[in-house]
Amino acid sequence: MREIIKPMPAAFIGHGSPMNALEHNRTTESWHAFGAAIPRPRAILVVSAHWFINATTVTAMPRPRTIHDFRGFPPELFAMEYPAPGSPDVAAEIVETVKPDIVDLDRTDWGLDHGTWSVLCHVFPQADIPVLQLSIHALQALEYHLKLGAKLARLRERGILILGSGNVVHNLGLIDWRQPDAAFDWNRRFDDAVKAVMTSAPADIPKLQEHPDYRRSVPTPEHFLPLVYLAGLAAEAGKATQILTDGYAMGSLSMTAYALGMPSQ
Ligand code: ZN
Repeated sequence: MREIIKPMPAAFIGHGSPMNALEHNRTTESWHAFGAAIPRPRAILVVSAHWFINATTVTAMPRPRTIHDFRGFPPELFAMEYPAPGSPDVAAEIVETVKPDIVDLDRTDWGLDHGTWSVLCHVFPQADIPVLQLSIHALQALEYHLKLGAKLARLRERGILILGSGNVVHNLGLIDWRQPDAAFDWNRRFDDAVKAVMTSAPADIPKLQEHPDYRRSVPTPEHFLPLVYLAGLAAEAGKATQILTDGYAMGSLSMTAYALGMPSQ
């Protein structure tokens, strides 16, 4: 009898400030709980908002460096390392999986940016599982990312954890430091609209581009697009996602996280 293997869960994490790497709060506790609730992956593929370039590329170096891609934060944050190995073999597997779509191999340039390590230091603190990053192609429409996400579904069946790291609502120009855990009304409205789609029909995510609060919530696409990869995976599985945690930061950020295929689902 053929053994039926449940696909690895997948998730989208709202990463917020890089300071979350050093902090322990309600949000980071939920990331830790996610890591503890799922089977140990063979490898982790992260679609991070902070690798937004004119190509779809996967990191393929055996030892990716920890990139401190921010300014104006304390020295402790610049001293942080996430020394997880990479995996040239898994990178080659990803290139094969999405053919005829083209994914380039990056053997020298990128590594793990803070969209990846500020989250993974809570999800898998031991940094002993191979981690790869997939860049977000900046010149492609949302529908390209939705389809590419769906194509990654086969990796879930091979024990690879796919994580998107961004923020559903991310408008740094409208940040209000006086409300660390609160949200402007437009932030709340758009976050609620996304929750409605992701928990019922994730394939409908392109429709959110018509939402009256889309432009203010998503002034640039790079923090929103990692969620589109999870929507593509969910659509391919014919399932909705569940909310892992929610909340807001500094008025104009949403911290909502979603998961697909949790052991309890
Ligand atoms: Zn970010």
